[in-house]
Amino acid sequence: MPETQKTMPDPAWADLWPAPRPGRPWSELRQAAREGRLVADWHARWPGTAFPLSPAACPVCRPLRAWHDALDAARYAAEADPSGRTPGPTAEAIEIGFAVEEALRDHRDLHVLVARELADVWADATDATLTARVERARAALDDPGAGALLLAEAAVRPFADPAWDEADGRPVLREPAGSGGITERSKAFFLLHRHRFGAFVAATTGDYEEVQRRSEGAASASLRLYDDVGRVLELVGTTAGYGGEGPRGTVWVLRAAGLPEGIHWPSGETDLEHTVFGQRAFRWPPDPDERAW
Ligand SMILES: [Zn+2]
Repeated sequence: MPETQKTMPDPAWADLWPAPRPGRPWSELRQAAREGRLVADWHARWPGTAFPLSPAACPVCRPLRAWHDALDAARYAAEADPSGRTPGPTAEAIEIGFAVEEALRDHRDLHVLVARELADVWADATDATLTARVERARAALDDPGAGALLLAEAAVRPFADPAWDEADGRPVLREPAGSGGITERSKAFFLLHRHRFGAFVAATTGDYEEVQRRSEGAASASLRLYDDVGRVLELVGTTAGYGGEGPRGTVWVLRAAGLPEGIHWPSGETDLEHTVFGQRAFRWPPDPDERAW
């Protein structure tokens, strides 16, 4: 192992991104962060942990930040040593640092997304000004206390703390239809409530046209995720059957839920993408028995 890596902290970070096989390339970390897979890794490692609004309280961001800071410290220590005997970071450590930096940035985007959507839900319900909603989101990111206050707002509660609906025979946690079918909002809803579920085993999606008629009561959901004890998470802003923002959100959610990607085709597309972009209604992963879900 290169010299500087021995001095790196080995915190929970190593648990989050272990090396299950020798030489697991760090580029995988970047890719995982881009695709939201760090969310799935995180829930596997810390089941039941709610997604924190602030990066300062995030079990993904904090160990990544510690690793990143340690790399910086090693670099500064080497630069500050006039004797030149303090080893600087190796090329490999610097390469890892780039991956960590990118993962940090992408994970921070998740915090920004949740804070922004919560602030928007609050502002839409209270007619708050644009300035007020931006300030509210920023405060929640910087200060865990401000985030807790935002989550406790009465106007936010249907989104942030919905009750389980048992009407169809199994517990369903449903994104409020009134949230408008906005893809980013559905991703935020997923992040906020992921910890209330076990391992997700399958997903189904309804028909896009039904989703468009949701205001008439035609469909209550566009995407349902089923966990290993039969609980259902229902999102209304993620769609399927065409190449657009809604289906891209569906792909993101299915990855973050830890569902399989399927085969990577030479075209670069995966089975998962092919299904979500190509079919308006599907079950993922495909049911080998093709029984009705
Ligand atoms: Zn984070």
